[in-house]
Amino acid sequence: MIYLAITLDIFLILFSLKYVWWYKNKDMSATRIMMYHMIAEQIPNEKKSGLRVSPLMFEKHLEYFSNNGWKFIKMSELEEHKDQNKIVAITFDDGYLDNYSIALPLLKKYNACATLYLVIDRHNNDWSVKKNPKHNSGALASEEKLSDDHILEMLNSNVFELGGHTITHPYLPNLALEDKKYEMIQCKEILENKFNTQVTSFAYPFGIYSNEDINIIKGSDYSSAVTTEEGVVDNSTLFDLKRVKASGKDNFFAFKLRVLKGFRGFI
Ligand SMILES: [Zn+2]
Repeated sequence: MIYLAITLDIFLILFSLKYVWWYKNKDMSATRIMMYHMIAEQIPNEKKSGLRVSPLMFEKHLEYFSNNGWKFIKMSELEEHKDQNKIVAITFDDGYLDNYSIALPLLKKYNACATLYLVIDRHNNDWSVKKNPKHNSGALASEEKLSDDHILEMLNSNVFELGGHTITHPYLPNLALEDKKYEMIQCKEILENKFNTQVTSFAYPFGIYSNEDINIIKGSDYSSAVTTEEGVVDNSTLFDLKRVKASGKDNFFAFKLRVLKGFRGFI
């Protein structure tokens, strides 16, 4: 009997470390910036990828926000909704084809909107090796990406707006200052000219950034920049905004914890 009690205690402790149900909710006036990559099923017989949120789960996320009184905004609308309750900005990184084929119709169905941080040189570009040369699996390069025509349609639908995510998705710490500036600022101009649109927000590639990078963005025409640091929008500046991670490894309970508390757990 005592063993059963101890086992149960250990289970409860581990469960509570993995899922912080007991943690205080973050204030509802703190905007939630959701971070997605692909809306896609897992690849059979491969390790689960956090980057792939299933279409069914993505719809459950949208349904949750919609049914619980959250308002969807684009990143360019962040400032005007400051301090309002239950504001959520859906964001996608990189530019995967499913953002058009799967996410766009679902976003329309729930009257939602989103910001797409688009890599300009995204076809046949396995940028994961830039951060870690051992990552040379080719998997990322073989993922289908959005064409310019898809992007035009996404913008014309008014569901999506574009954000900058550099030209080639470099590993910023490897670049000289001038090259960084080129990647970070020039991508905005290229996107604006190509798609005849306004680009006001930026996402640091791999979520990796330094004070030098923040200063480049501050000194440019961008009005905000997002990282991959987990959390809700707090008192940090507009140029190192935290995001709530939407992970393909999560169940729906974990998703809700992330939205309400800013993170899922400690283990
Ligand atoms: Zn990226």
